Amino acid sequence: MIDVPRIAKGDQPYEWRPPQGLCWWLWRGLVMLQCPNGHSCHLPHAVNASGVVTPSAVCPVAGCGFHEHLRLTDWDMGDKADKTTQADVLARRTEELDE
Ligand SMILES: [Zn+2]
Repeated sequence: MIDVPRIAKGDQPYEWRPPQGLCWWLWRGLVMLQCPNGHSCHLPHAVNASGVVTPSAVCPVAGCGFHEHLRLTDWDMGDKADKTTQADVLARRTEELDE
């Protein structure tokens, strides 16, 4: 398991990416992750009060190969359940396109 540093982020656009490698941040209540290769995505996984992510995280970018068990450093939101369904993800994407 590897520790993921937290990045402070203001009201940036969804496409904003931090300059660092592996890190996480919050965007409108969503947990966002950037892999060490600079790919960022929403992390719908469950997170426990210690910041441990379940299940392991896989970068969705083809050919990246990043796949790790993660712990989010400075996690302060208690237990977050993994309630995301495929329909939820599609709905969010549609909302983002409408903005
Ligand atoms: Zn990646």
